[in-house]
Amino acid sequence: MNNRISIKEKKEVVIDPTVVDFLNPDFLYIPITRDDTIKVKTNSEVYKEQLIVKSARGDVYSPVSGKVIGKTSSMLVGNQKMDCMVIENDFREKTKKRMSATKYIHDFEKEEMLDLIEKYNVCHHPITTKGKTLLINGIDSDPYEHTYSYLINTHGAKILETIDALCSILEVETTILAITNNDTRNVISLTNNIGTYPNITLKLLPDIYPMGFKDILIKNVLSKKQISKGFTYLTVQDIYNIYNVLKRKKSMTEKLVTISGNAVEQPLVANVKIGSSMADIIKNCCDVVNRKYFIVVNGLLAGRTLKSLNSVMTSDIRSIFLSVKDEAIEKKCINCGLCNSKCPVGLNPKYLKEHKKADRSKCIKCGLCTYICPSKINFKTCLGGKDGE
Ligand code: SF4
Ligand code: SF4
Repeated sequence: MNNRISIKEKKEVVIDPTVVDFLNPDFLYIPITRDDTIKVKTNSEVYKEQLIVKSARGDVYSPVSGKVIGKTSSMLVGNQKMDCMVIENDFREKTKKRMSATKYIHDFEKEEMLDLIEKYNVCHHPITTKGKTLLINGIDSDPYEHTYSYLINTHGAKILETIDALCSILEVETTILAITNNDTRNVISLTNNIGTYPNITLKLLPDIYPMGFKDILIKNVLSKKQISKGFTYLTVQDIYNIYNVLKRKKSMTEKLVTISGNAVEQPLVANVKIGSSMADIIKNCCDVVNRKYFIVVNGLLAGRTLKSLNSVMTSDIRSIFLSVKDEAIEKKCINCGLCNSKCPVGLNPKYLKEHKKADRSKCIKCGLCTYICPSKINFKTCLGGKDGE
């Protein structure tokens, strides 16, 4: 663990304690491909949570009620041009029929539960039915991201209830919820409530980057024996989504997202509709103090830069950073050895940059080498970016 770093500058960023809602965009954009089956016609009315697209990527449910007004090819999804169905919001949030809540989510049979999770397409990680351990990641992947922390803070009781239900339905032996030891409000509230759930172990980990990355977390929390006996890895976002499905048969139509960066006056966590455009989210959620920004999603250190504001908010986006370019010029390597000594998986980034054919398969694309280099050498160009999960 000694080679990990604590990102000190993080302490200077004070995030707004209130979650900002932006749940009423005028238009929603639903990515579609030629292989998808579109379940609604142009000019037809849709209600919120109606199945609108059947797809191999997972079925899609309407985030709002409104009218399907056609198709556009002007939007980007993960920097790729993709056709999108356009829904005009009627702002009525009309649902077909309100599902009555399931009283006790522990009563689901294993197959029934897995079928529901698959049907509503809410879980970003596979659930293994034979694993003996359940590991839940409640640590934000990026030092400037607060999405998971806010999710636990807002829905802690639901998250604990769902983890406990999964633990008994999947018949796992060990269940671990991992958060950082300086996530003070969640440490206090979870410690106070965890006594009700003797099956769940709360694991407090040091706030060092990149602890929230899946591979690093697994390595730091699970023993070799637990790994070899099989385990399921989920995030608190998966757990919250599963809660909504088991409790109310509710698809994922909105989500929390951190909005931060040096071009934003006040960093915050917003609750936004999936399918909103980035342009709408930025316009409605934050004050931009410098218009020369570029957008990075899913982590300032490891995230990907978006090519356009005409990008769609998808269910896998945890954070949006509006950053003004660092004008510092790349200098010559001073052979300080920092990139080598701090790489969390023991690689030599300088060597990888200089040797195109070198094996970079172990690289988790955390961006730490680029962040830490005093000569401002950009390793992302040769190692690429990832989203942390
Ligand atoms: S991006 Fe890859 S090489 Fe650089 S520090 Fe992270 S794991 Fe190591
Ligand atoms: S951190 Fe930068 S300056 Fe130091 S050895 Fe690595 S590439 Fe060179």
